[in-house]
Amino acid sequence: MSLFTLIENWEGRFKKNSFETVSYAKKIADKLNSQLTVLTFSAKQPSELSKFGADKIINISNIKFEEASNDLIAEICQNHIQDGDYQTLVFSNTNLGKNVSPIISQKLNYELLSNVISHPDSISPMSVKCKAYSSKAIVEYQSSSKLNAISIVPNSIGEINESPVEFELNEIEFNKSTYEPKLKVLSRSESTEKISLPDANIVVSAGRGLKGPENWKMIEELANLLNAGTACSKPVSDMGWRPHSEHVGQTGIAINPELYIAIGISGAIQHLAGVNSSKNIVVINSDPEAPFFKSADYGIVGDAFDIIPKLIEEIKQYKN
Ligand SMILES: Cc1cc2nc3c(=O)[nH]c(=O)nc-3n(C[C@H](O)[C@H](O)[C@H](O)COP(=O)(O)OP(=O)(O)OC[C@H]3O[C@@H](n4cnc5c(N)ncnc54)[C@H](O)[C@@H]3O)c2cc1C
Repeated sequence: MSLFTLIENWEGRFKKNSFETVSYAKKIADKLNSQLTVLTFSAKQPSELSKFGADKIINISNIKFEEASNDLIAEICQNHIQDGDYQTLVFSNTNLGKNVSPIISQKLNYELLSNVISHPDSISPMSVKCKAYSSKAIVEYQSSSKLNAISIVPNSIGEINESPVEFELNEIEFNKSTYEPKLKVLSRSESTEKISLPDANIVVSAGRGLKGPENWKMIEELANLLNAGTACSKPVSDMGWRPHSEHVGQTGIAINPELYIAIGISGAIQHLAGVNSSKNIVVINSDPEAPFFKSADYGIVGDAFDIIPKLIEEIKQYKN
């Protein structure tokens, strides 16, 4: 029996999260002493995945992730999984992974463990730790099934391990004439951020305390200096101060960076739901009673308009 994983790319290029997912699957494959098969779509350099342990790479060369519907991707994965002998399936808990992993698991009778944030404590029976209750709790699950699907939270494992192997590459064209998609992608608008939030190691985020969109220059300058992504609270994106692609929280993007710097954000429970898995949280707020301080590793009580310029100067001097 072997392992199967779906590896995403964007416009043919793999992202940090792609390598994190292959590295994760490879660790399980090693424990099971089994082969790792990777399925991807229109990758420009599919062989790159062998550096992280993919023994067999299937590249569906006539379909792109950014154009395909979830049901089509699920269907193609199912066909390949049915043809193999896979004990474990590994997905990333991205928007796509959240959509396709339940469909595939349900259709093929795999037990789905989603929101996973740890390597398995045991493989047989499969036991992993998962985020629960909007990240307020961690639950350890043990599966009684021999066939399991694991969906890992991007950036939560944080390990990319090079482990080059000899590999077999299969470039395959999917026969589109046999398939009528139930969903079609009509249009897409892309975020313009240089650093994608789910992949960012550092995120600088700001809220209504910044008073207006004209004050984001200092947030962007701080983020640039730290090579960080920029994020914001929901009201900030609702008011159009920042794009919706920066909104983090329960109804926005969930992130797990090494460092989250929250500036002028009160720390409402819905905001925390998307950021409280960050490994280190720094809160800058003028109100010493702001709820966010309860979740902070480091807190600075003060006016952001005094503190941020000073912080920028200190970082510049440190870098020099
Ligand atoms: C169903 C639902 C879903 C939601 N989903 C989300 C979500 O996904 N993400 C999200 O963010 N919110 C979400 N919200 C909204 C959430 O409840 C809060 O209203 C929101 O997070 C508050 O945003 P904020 O902290 O920017 O603003 P505020 O609550 O107004 O806080 C501003 C903070 O800035 C501080 N401040 C003011 N001036 C300064 C200064 N000069 N220097 C430093 N600090 C200063 C203040 O002390 C205050 O703490 C949701 C709400 C609901 C009901």
